[in-house]
Amino acid sequence: MKGKLFSIEEFSTFDGPGVRITVFLKGCPLRCMWCHNPEGQSFSNEILRSPNGCLQCNACLIAGKKKTGVPCLVEESIAVCPRNLVRGSGEDITPEELLSVLEKKLNMLNSTGGGVTFSGGEPLAQHEFLISCLQLLKSKTNRAIQTSGFCDSDIFKSVIPDCDYVLYDLKIMNPKLHKKYTGFTNEKILENYKILAGSGKDFITRMPLIPNVNDTVENITQTAEFLSRHNVNKIELLPYNKAAGAKYKMLDRKYEIDFDASATPNRHMEIFDKYKIEVNVL
Ligand code: SF4
Repeated sequence: MKGKLFSIEEFSTFDGPGVRITVFLKGCPLRCMWCHNPEGQSFSNEILRSPNGCLQCNACLIAGKKKTGVPCLVEESIAVCPRNLVRGSGEDITPEELLSVLEKKLNMLNSTGGGVTFSGGEPLAQHEFLISCLQLLKSKTNRAIQTSGFCDSDIFKSVIPDCDYVLYDLKIMNPKLHKKYTGFTNEKILENYKILAGSGKDFITRMPLIPNVNDTVENITQTAEFLSRHNVNKIELLPYNKAAGAKYKMLDRKYEIDFDASATPNRHMEIFDKYKIEVNVL
């Protein structure tokens, strides 16, 4: 069995307890308009080209034309760029191969109370590979997943027992708005959240703050009520990343939406106070 990754990042301090290695699995069924990891959305390998420092020599496109008949980026474009601006995204790997990459670092991670976090993309979209990796890491380190919770509940229930910690994103409570901004309504996400909250598993709720999309009085009130109903008393907020659009250019994709980044950041946080929910802004 092989999974597809697009990055492994070391020394992360935002993806769970302690110092961690974060493994980014490629592919996500959602299409959040503000996604700052667009290379994590497609389940296929992709070629990225950075515009910064480009000589406009077109060697990368000529390599594509030789192969396909039309100017485009292909695997061969990577080697011919004189500025090393072209790279591939997507690596197939077995759980055992991944373990051998991670194993050398586990002592260091464990000494900080950290471990390994599987993120994405959406890690639950490759649940069989994910479960296999989590089981190989059992008793070796702290195992976390960072998820949107968007999957069938049977899949969610099959993964949770092999996690030590879950970072669970809640984006928008209104199903119609959720569909407008992510491509899907949020019933499965809320259902899986209930399962998680009732499981006794250690977890944290996270919310990206998108100006005028989900940092509204209505959405924050609904989120606080929902957490309160499930006896959850803390949330981590991730302020909108203004640089989120840059990677889209590298994929030759348009960043669909231009959020009003001038909107007051972290507004309406007093609503969480009202519900006695502790807020940690990352
Ligand atoms: S080969 Fe490199 S420098 Fe030349 S056009 Fe392509 S990205 Fe730019």
